[in-house]
This record gives sequence, structure tokens and C-alpha cells, in this order.
Amino acid sequence: MIDEIRHMIELQKYWDNVVRAEKEIESAENEIKKSEKEIEIKKSGFNELKTRIKNLKSAVNRNEVLLLELAGKENDLAEKSNSAQNEKQMNAFNSEIETIRKNKNTIEEETFTQMSDLENLNSESADLESKMPQEIADIEKHVLMMTERIERFKEIAEKNRKAVDDNSDLLSGQVKSKFLKLLNSSNRKAIVVIEKNACGGCRNVLPVNDVNDLGDNKKLISCQNCGKFLYREN
Ligand SMILES: [Zn+2]
Repeated sequence: MIDEIRHMIELQKYWDNVVRAEKEIESAENEIKKSEKEIEIKKSGFNELKTRIKNLKSAVNRNEVLLLELAGKENDLAEKSNSAQNEKQMNAFNSEIETIRKNKNTIEEETFTQMSDLENLNSESADLESKMPQEIADIEKHVLMMTERIERFKEIAEKNRKAVDDNSDLLSGQVKSKFLKLLNSSNRKAIVVIEKNACGGCRNVLPVNDVNDLGDNKKLISCQNCGKFLYREN
């Protein structure tokens, strides 16, 4: 194997480590975003519940005030009905009383439903309140782990990127610039292995002459389709 191919394989290995580390960083960053979103949803869900409870309590209070008012009116009308001058007057008062009673019934039923809802929401809220701190602490712990993971892989990427930089001068000028450019091409490979007479990068079947020319990695050849350098595995 000629030195140039040997160096390129070595540089590609460093570069593969950079690519792997970058993927790890990206996935850890996504994990963090997901976790932060999760915390946000939990907190806003809890706040929403608190607001619903508050509104429901006000509604119950309003209805209770209303019921007291209606009871007062009902009493007044009952007194008036008792001291009515004639039957016509009495019937009028009684019909008003009947309307008020119907009204009261409707409001009482509504209040009953509201109170039962309130009870459910309160128990839901208490449940959340007891579980949520631990759940959030767990997620935050996960975020911290991911943050540390990112730092670790940043170091790995940095170290290997430096190894590529430091060793790229082992390649001759033209080969070096083409090689470095190819490192950022599709699948981020600059040199690929030949698999069954096809380019390991783009699967293009190589001309027989190229394959013969390469021999036992004795000559530098590249794929005519994707441009990547080629070598044969021993
Ligand atoms: Zn190719």
C-alpha cells in the first residue's frame, strides 16, 4: 500500500470520530430540548389546573350569593302572598315564587356539579403537587447528564479534528486539498473501500481498468462519479 492511501485511511478514521461525536452532540442537544419542553408542559399543565380551580371556586361563590339572594326574595314574596288582598294578587305572588324556585333548582344543580368537579380537580392538583417536584428533578438530572455528554463529545471532536489538521500535511498539496474538501461531502467520507468492484461511497460500478490500476493499493484512484478516493481492503 502506498503511503498516501495509508495516510488517508488514517485521517479518515480521525474524521469518522469527529462525525460520530458530532452526531452524539446533536442527539444530546435534541434530548435537552425535549426535556425542557417536557418540563414546560408539566408546569403549564399544573398552572392551567390551578386556574381552572380558581375559576370554578369563584363560580361556586357567585352561585352561593345568588342562591341567598333568591331565598331572600322568595321569603319576601311568601310574606306578601300571605298578606295578599285578593286571590288574583296571591296567585301573582305565587307564580313569582314558582319562577324563583325553578331558578334556584337550576342553580343548585349547577353548583352541585361544580363542587363535584372541584373536588376532582383538587385531588388531581394535590396528586400533581406531590409527584411533580421529583419528576422535574429527574428530568433536570437527565439534562445535566446530557450537558456533560455534550462537553465530553466536544472534546473528542476537537481532539480528532486537530489530529486531521496536524496530519493532513502528510498528503501532497493537491491530494490534500481535494481530500479535505471531500471530508464534508455526502456521508462525509473522502476515501472509501471498494466493495465488489463498486465505489463504497456512491455504489457506482468502477471501470475494470480503474480496479486493475489500483492493484494492491499501489496507485491513487478516485471514483469517476462521486470523486471519493478508493482503496481495497486486504
Ligand atoms: Zn463514488
